[in-house]
Amino acid sequence: MPAPCGHCRQCEKVLRGVHPDITYVEREKDAKEIKVDQMRAVRAASLVLPNDAARSVYIVRDADLMRNEAQNAMLKVFEEPAPHVVFILLAANAERLIGTVRSRCVELVLPPRGHELPELTERLFAAGTRYDILSAALEFEKLSRPELVEAISSVKACALREFSAGRLDGEKFGRIAENMNRAEKYMVHNVSAGYVSGLIMTAFI
Ligand SMILES: [Zn+2]
Repeated sequence: MPAPCGHCRQCEKVLRGVHPDITYVEREKDAKEIKVDQMRAVRAASLVLPNDAARSVYIVRDADLMRNEAQNAMLKVFEEPAPHVVFILLAANAERLIGTVRSRCVELVLPPRGHELPELTERLFAAGTRYDILSAALEFEKLSRPELVEAISSVKACALREFSAGRLDGEKFGRIAENMNRAEKYMVHNVSAGYVSGLIMTAFI
């Protein structure tokens, strides 16, 4: 899938916030949670075919603030959405979502904005030679464990971006995604930073 161009009629509508096939769902003013009625309305609306685009997209802001009933109301559609629908759940704390919702999602961990870590990730993606890859990987080794966890998710997010933009082939994308998933598991099991950095490096060589 190509990256958004930012200039065409569709992109322009998205940027102006008036695209008819993109719906933002958020808490009502002064409400602490997203209510079940709101999600029932989304569920019904999601059956309608898109106007303009190939798909209709529902973006739920603060999805972790959906009431449990609201989440339960969506289980069926999250499991088997109509082919023309994409749901994007944004959550600061995905652990607050019920397990049956989470298990139906493809989870993407995005690095916080304005952090310098992505620069290191970019270096890895831009690396032209083995030497460049090795020297970037050595920098990963110097990170603290929380930074390394963050770096792994930024590599994943970057790989997804590059793949979507057609700058990364499927095979390499698969290898990076696989190694990063393993790296995440290793971090949970306290495997050394050197070993995890090696895993990151081999995904790029
Ligand atoms: Zn466009």
